[in-house]
Amino acid sequence: MTIFQFPQFSLEAVKIWEKIPVEFQDTILSNVLCSNCRDSVRMVDYSGSVVSGDLLLKGNCAICGRTVARLVEGS
Ligand SMILES: [Zn+2]
Repeated sequence: MTIFQFPQFSLEAVKIWEKIPVEFQDTILSNVLCSNCRDSVRMVDYSGSVVSGDLLLKGNCAICGRTVARLVEGS
């Protein structure tokens, strides 16, 4: 596996994200609910931060470009 860069991830966010299996990372990123599309969409241009021990991913809907977010529980 090539080393992935996380320019938009905080250090704490990277620690949580790296513990998630790659297949599951993709599942997370490709199943984000967009309130505009009213469907599960892929999140692009995402960034990560840690909120109360959980990883918060924020990005844009791949279809309409609106902001979408997804919380990934840290434990
Ligand atoms: Zn959308």
